[in-house]
Amino acid sequence: MRVRLLGTGTADGWPNPWCSCASCRAAAAAGVVRTSTSALVDDRLLLELGPDAPRAAVRAGAGLTGVEAVLVTHAHPDHLHAPAWMWRGWASGARPVTLVGPPAVLAAVAPHLDDTVTTVEAVPGARLAVAGFDVRVLPASHAGAEVGPAVLYDLTCAQGRSLLWATDTGVLSHAALALASGRAYDAVLLDLTSAHLPDHHDLRTWPEQVAELRRRGAVVDTTAVHAVHLGHDNPPPAELDALLRGWGASAPRDGEVLEVGRPSATATAPGPRAGRVLVLGGARSGKSAYAEQRLAAEPAVTYVATAPARQGDAEWAQRVQAHVSRRPRAWSTLETGDVAQVLRTAATPLLVDDLGLWLVRVVDAAGAWEGPLGDVEAACDELVAAWQACRVPVVLVAPEVGSGVVPGTASGRRFRDLLGALTARLAAASDEVVQVVAGLPRPLR
Ligand SMILES: [Zn+2]
Ligand SMILES: [Zn+2]
Ligand SMILES: [Zn+2]
Repeated sequence: MRVRLLGTGTADGWPNPWCSCASCRAAAAAGVVRTSTSALVDDRLLLELGPDAPRAAVRAGAGLTGVEAVLVTHAHPDHLHAPAWMWRGWASGARPVTLVGPPAVLAAVAPHLDDTVTTVEAVPGARLAVAGFDVRVLPASHAGAEVGPAVLYDLTCAQGRSLLWATDTGVLSHAALALASGRAYDAVLLDLTSAHLPDHHDLRTWPEQVAELRRRGAVVDTTAVHAVHLGHDNPPPAELDALLRGWGASAPRDGEVLEVGRPSATATAPGPRAGRVLVLGGARSGKSAYAEQRLAAEPAVTYVATAPARQGDAEWAQRVQAHVSRRPRAWSTLETGDVAQVLRTAATPLLVDDLGLWLVRVVDAAGAWEGPLGDVEAACDELVAAWQACRVPVVLVAPEVGSGVVPGTASGRRFRDLLGALTARLAAASDEVVQVVAGLPRPLR
């Protein structure tokens, strides 16, 4: 199955031509122009006929003359440009075409249709045979009274390759998830509008949706997961690409061709998910939130809390509670100081938060805040060895304490020195090292 992406953007496009926000300016500078989301599958089936799709098809050298079926998800104007059907009527030799869409789509185009067009209502749960594809209709979590219900499409070609077209939608309903369960798609294209609207996905809900699709066997290790319907509420292109890479996903560009079911070598192809990622940052830099975001697309994560329990400390308890409520429900929490053991035996991805508190525990246990180091060095060696040997995706958070003033106490200076040396050893053995400054991740490796 060959999917030619005619557009990958929101209704206004990205950059929005009227906008001078940082995201639009960065996209313009990088030459990444996205028009309304639409795709041409095997040059035979068109997904969405918005205002930009016909021109994009011509520019791509494909045109629309081979199209036998048009599938429209809903009647918002970036997905359905009704006059395009009138213009089709001016063409000579247009072949018969099947138009599939919810009632509002069929009603909007009715005045423009001629007898070469057969219309089919898209009813969630239905299964249709169109243009050689097996098409299943899923309900979208999108659109209100003004355009009626919206749908998503699940396509399988004659060679058995499958694709989920999931734009536009917010968090999928139980009904949609039930239809997607076990489908092990070859490709999933999922809305990432980021406008913080309940009927679209944003950077918080998107990876959690991918995690849910993984838990349900809709997304498997061989599934290519892509973000589409991208707009300027997303961070600049390079930053968004990096985020998606960490989730094993990508944001293909307008005009890109996806060979569904075959590994892709393009620059925006999804990368492998996290290996050993060391996240550094100062206090309140956003390092913990970033670390959580890195693993948000994993179906299950063990959160390893290294902090010793602080009985009777209400402020601390509040901070811990804030962290817990930010994490997805499928995450479990393990409070332990034996991080090496966890790294050696884990079967699910890990988030270890954090290295500084782990070190405090180790030095406490060794009674080594002054005098000989005792067991501290052996514990550090064991941790580094376990880090090197860890085989599951793991993100380790480490505080940066060496940049401020020299600590006024001997124990403070010891902590700083031990932590600095240990962080450097772990960094050397990491697949990725990221520094978070002012909430922005900066890759160091
Ligand atoms: Zn903008
Ligand atoms: Zn819409
Ligand atoms: Zn839209």
